[in-house]
Amino acid sequence: MSNIMTVEDRMRSRLTSFLSVALLATAAFLVPASPAAAAPSFRTPFPCHQTWSGETRTTHSPQYAIDFNRADDHGDPVKASAPGTVDVVANLGDTSYGRYVRINHGGGYTTYYAHLSGFNVSVGQSVGYATTIGYVGNSGGSSGSHLHYEQRLNGSDIMVRFSGNLALYFGTQNYTRTAGC
Ligand SMILES: [Zn+2]
Repeated sequence: MSNIMTVEDRMRSRLTSFLSVALLATAAFLVPASPAAAAPSFRTPFPCHQTWSGETRTTHSPQYAIDFNRADDHGDPVKASAPGTVDVVANLGDTSYGRYVRINHGGGYTTYYAHLSGFNVSVGQSVGYATTIGYVGNSGGSSGSHLHYEQRLNGSDIMVRFSGNLALYFGTQNYTRTAGC
């Protein structure tokens, strides 16, 4: 006799089921799966049509960074590789990055430009592809003028892509900004 439900019990049971489904539906609506943001379309961090030699190596820190060089490059302008907001302009003296700029592109993506000889932006500044952010140099832990460049996602360095094309890992090849020129 104990498993015979009264009318009241059945109604309560149905109400409970209804509320459970409603709560689950609400939870699913309030907490949607967050799709990964699309990566920005990064371009080489130099003016259009300039060709730079980019070197990657397994011993580089961080490993997926690229060192860019060309003849007599000291003082050459460095361009933002994608639109964003400058969130670091710092000088670490004779160590590490030396003078460097970080740009926040949203979606967890940042780019780093290190060993600069000088700055041309300040923290909080919005930048676009055409913005000169600083100048190639030899500051920090660097022996010889070059640009140390990184792309990071959520703080971790990632393999560099320009216009969606993966950079050469590991080795040296030429890179030229041609997109959007
Ligand atoms: Zn480097």
